[in-house]
Amino acid sequence: MNTYVVSRELLEQNLRQLKKQANGVPIWAVIKGDGYGIGALPLAELLADNGIEHFCITEVREAELLRENGFREAQILMLRSISDRETLHRLLDLNVILTVGSWEVAQEIDALARERADIAEVHIKIDTGMGRYGFLPSETERVIALYCEMKHLAIGGIYTHFNCAYGDEKLTRQEFTAFRKVVAQLRAAGLETGIVHCCNSSAFLKYPEMHCDAVRLGSAILGRMPFRTKLRPVGYMESEIEALRTLPKGHSTGYGAVWTAKRETQLAIVPVGWYHGFHVSCRYNMTRASDRFVAVLAAFKRLLRKELTYVEIGGKQCPVVGAIGMLHCAVDVTGMSCAVGDRVILQVNPLHQKGVKVAYRK
Ligand SMILES: *Cc1c(COP(=O)(O)O)cnc(C)c1O
Repeated sequence: MNTYVVSRELLEQNLRQLKKQANGVPIWAVIKGDGYGIGALPLAELLADNGIEHFCITEVREAELLRENGFREAQILMLRSISDRETLHRLLDLNVILTVGSWEVAQEIDALARERADIAEVHIKIDTGMGRYGFLPSETERVIALYCEMKHLAIGGIYTHFNCAYGDEKLTRQEFTAFRKVVAQLRAAGLETGIVHCCNSSAFLKYPEMHCDAVRLGSAILGRMPFRTKLRPVGYMESEIEALRTLPKGHSTGYGAVWTAKRETQLAIVPVGWYHGFHVSCRYNMTRASDRFVAVLAAFKRLLRKELTYVEIGGKQCPVVGAIGMLHCAVDVTGMSCAVGDRVILQVNPLHQKGVKVAYRK
């Protein structure tokens, strides 16, 4: 059976490394997207066991999951700036810190808190370039007004989210400067800004001077960064050889017949394909036919350039041959002694894994 295996040991190792680099600045763990594919709850539980007390979410369900499973004291920040009343009610019931990214959202939350005879804890979002939620740096006057007028908001923090921290240093520095300027203006107006935070994983790793009062880390915990780091990817796909075939010279395997056997070849058929996230990149939305086509084309190009993909069988790296299918791939195991049922390890980004169970192991 296919399983996505997560190593507790590697997760803990990454976390230790990140804590060391955070140098005392609290880590707010981002567990959105079902914990980046490795399960929001088991991930949060492991992190809590290792001293993490702050979590960031994007779905009500994630807050429910935490609160229903013993996370009573943990601080939970909703990263989306939400105006839907019912959702807000539920989030306040769950004692979640809300994000205020616009005047309208602030009004909605303020009115709701007043109705509930409650005070809603919120963080203000500044939009320095992402262009999704947040007040523009030019709207600082509005933010100041918000502090003064909204009596039912307890503003506990202010943050921005960089859009290019993994790549564009100049832009990121400009965004950081713009953000700090907003914070400085608020302070000059005599306001308490609370916790100031801006770093995602990339910014955290690249720019220690931007750590401020807290950092929001997701990908780094899973050890999956688009540049070289000391962090280790924490998971892999585990499957089994489903069939062994001996193909005569000249026979092909997979769609498009892009590969044919140059000699008699022993193939291991493994029941993992792009549906399960094998060899899927963030660039493609595999539920869309056009993207699927482009992804398959890219795979063909890699094949033509002889850039092979490997999987591990019996401790050995074996090349995948032919185009990877929706549910299968074929692996060249010529000359190896392997059997149906032997374990196969495949590198799969958990963000793309689906249709398999997730298992945490030592
Ligand atoms: C996803 C997200 C993060 C975490 O990003 P990583 O690069 O995975 O660390 C931080 N902040 C916000 C607002 C996010 O949406």
